[in-house]
Amino acid sequence: MIMRLKSLELLGFKSFAKKTPLEFESAITAVVGPNGSGKSNVVESLRFVLGEQSIKSMRGKAGVDLIFKGSKTLPKASRASVNIYFDNKDKVFKLENETGEKINLNYDTINISREVFSDGLNKYSLNGSEVRLKDIVTLLSSVNIGSSGHHIISQGEADRILNASSKERREMIEDALGLKIYQYKIKESERKLDRTATNMKEVSLLRKEIAPHLNFLRKQVEKLEKAKEQKIELLDLYREYLQRESKYLTEQNNSFIEEKSKISNELESLSEKIKQIEDISVVIENPKVSEIKNLEKKIYEIRSLKGEIDRKLGRIEGMIEMEERRLQQTPKEKKHESVILSFKEAEDFVTEMNTYIDDAMTKSEVSEVFPILNRIKESLKRFSPAELSENNFNASIHVVEDNSSAKIELERLQKTREEILVELHKMQEEEDKVKSVVENLKSEIEKENFENQESQKTRFDLSVRKQELLSGLSTIAMKEENFVRLSTSFEDQIREGSIFLGGDILSYKNFEITNVEPRENQLERLKKIERIKIKLEDAGLGGGTEVLKEYEETSERDIFLAKEMEDLSTSIVALRSLMMDLKEKIDIEFKSGIQKINKEFQEFFALMFGGGSAFLTVIAQQKKNKDEDMESSNDENIVFEHGIEISVSLPHKKVKELQALSGGERSLTSIALLFAISQVNPPPFLVLDETDAALDEANSRKYGDMLEKLSKHSQLIVVTHNRETMSRAGVLYGVTVGSDGASKLLSVKFEEAVAIAK
Ligand code: ATP
Repeated sequence: MIMRLKSLELLGFKSFAKKTPLEFESAITAVVGPNGSGKSNVVESLRFVLGEQSIKSMRGKAGVDLIFKGSKTLPKASRASVNIYFDNKDKVFKLENETGEKINLNYDTINISREVFSDGLNKYSLNGSEVRLKDIVTLLSSVNIGSSGHHIISQGEADRILNASSKERREMIEDALGLKIYQYKIKESERKLDRTATNMKEVSLLRKEIAPHLNFLRKQVEKLEKAKEQKIELLDLYREYLQRESKYLTEQNNSFIEEKSKISNELESLSEKIKQIEDISVVIENPKVSEIKNLEKKIYEIRSLKGEIDRKLGRIEGMIEMEERRLQQTPKEKKHESVILSFKEAEDFVTEMNTYIDDAMTKSEVSEVFPILNRIKESLKRFSPAELSENNFNASIHVVEDNSSAKIELERLQKTREEILVELHKMQEEEDKVKSVVENLKSEIEKENFENQESQKTRFDLSVRKQELLSGLSTIAMKEENFVRLSTSFEDQIREGSIFLGGDILSYKNFEITNVEPRENQLERLKKIERIKIKLEDAGLGGGTEVLKEYEETSERDIFLAKEMEDLSTSIVALRSLMMDLKEKIDIEFKSGIQKINKEFQEFFALMFGGGSAFLTVIAQQKKNKDEDMESSNDENIVFEHGIEISVSLPHKKVKELQALSGGERSLTSIALLFAISQVNPPPFLVLDETDAALDEANSRKYGDMLEKLSKHSQLIVVTHNRETMSRAGVLYGVTVGSDGASKLLSVKFEEAVAIAK
């Protein structure tokens, strides 16, 4: 493997004001120079460029202390910069990509550069590109250059490993074994675990926070879903209900119109008929009855006239009788008695008679005429012989005998009687005629009355029918009222339904009725509809879409969080398993590394001390560690931490405690251990800053032998005042302080070096 440290270049770093290159062409390069010339500054520049974070380990307090401060003749630098160059022909330098995969760098030379500015800001570059410190660490660990700097032993730090705590020793060894990167990964995993645990806490808190709201929303959504089903059911019911109702109402309406028009027509014709009947009954009463009355009056007149004529006839016949008797008595009684009346008496008599007659003529009833006739008879008695003798009259009766005049009178009277009889006969005929007319009329009336009764009966029947029809009309009116109620309810249902179903309600028009059912089914249907509506109203799901949206969002969020929780748990498991693996790996490699180190340690130790024994032991120390595992949170677990103890046994000495060793013995032990460690995973170079300071001549030789042994695997850069050490170096650099107050570096020969070092 060719992975050689090629060169180092300092500029403005500590005492090196100017650009100062060092070439490492030999396996052992020695840096020599008087005290305070800047040799250790060279070693520190190596630490610096390899990413050392402890300013203290570079003998400074802040980054600015690493920058050349200026001298009498030179101004202070604005930054300190160190470049280091490695040969990478074998492409051994590796970087990690984002997924943690290691990739080989394709450069023949690797150049790492670090700059520090007066404000303490650091800048790292890899072959000219700025990179992170982490990249530098990864890059160097790929070639066994750990960040703990175990391969750089600073001045006075030779026995650092002896003074260090068992834990620090372990870290140094782990670093040397190249296990630091695993530790680093474990740390990183721990950090990730911490972060994951925190995230899990947060996520679980978030889930807890949204859980009640999510529950509420879920219930709302369930309700909504139920409501959706109910709405579907409602729509189904409504469609059938409304279509049937609409059909029913139309039929009803049509039947009303038809019925009404039928009844109206019948009523019209009935009223007509009734009117006709009424007209007829009014007409039949009048003319015939009054005609009969007239005729009866006429009959009465005829009869009274007849009576009068009868009486006239009687008088005539009396007169005839008297005349006949007179004629028969003439021989014996030839004398006619005559009554002589004065004119005045005759006139009074005529006036009296006329008065009676006039009175009688005013009377309509025959019975009324009789008293008048009696009075007339009484008046006439005055002319009887008895009355006359009593001288009721001044008249004197004169008897006149005269036959011829009697005969003439008789004839005249007989003639008059004949005329009267003819007249009577005529009147009788007329009476009979009138009577028969009356009879006819009466029988006609009788007949008509019979007919009238018939039509009255018909009229009654018609009235009954009319009443029936009228009540039929009022029934229809009642039905119509009901119809109006149903129509209003129909409209109401559409309006109410649309509140729940929107425009869908009108789809009832497309519903096809396939069967005929009893009307009660509609009532049942309506009951169901009302029940569903009440349920929907009860649910009170205003703004359903928002609830749904919110539920979807919240539940998506919850699912997301649950998934995240799962991912986090998975990653915790993965991280733990990774940590376990890493720890296992570290454990295995550490143990085998310790074994290897112990073998080398023993050898180097024996070589240094001419015998004796030295070895490392791994000890386990109890340590309280707060486990941050979520599931067993708050549990404090006892964990074991491994440390390294060093056991030495010097030849011919009983001393076993490290503290009891002399300074040289400590140095030798320490060097033996450091060399042993560096043999397991040899770093590309080792820097030893005056590690040999405490060695006597004999030990210096042994130290020189070890250097040569070591240089087979690693380049060595030694800062030394030791002549023996210098003699082993292939290249010698002399460091001096120039007249400008800055360190200067020059390549020197051995003799020069010996001179410079002094
Ligand atoms: P020794 O042999 O005594 O160990 P050395 O050669 O290792 O000495 P260093 O310790 O490397 O010497 O150098 C110390 C010198 O560097 C001091 O003189 C100090 O003033 C100088 N120095 C340290 N920091 C700066 C700085 N920032 N600017 C200028 N000079 C500095």
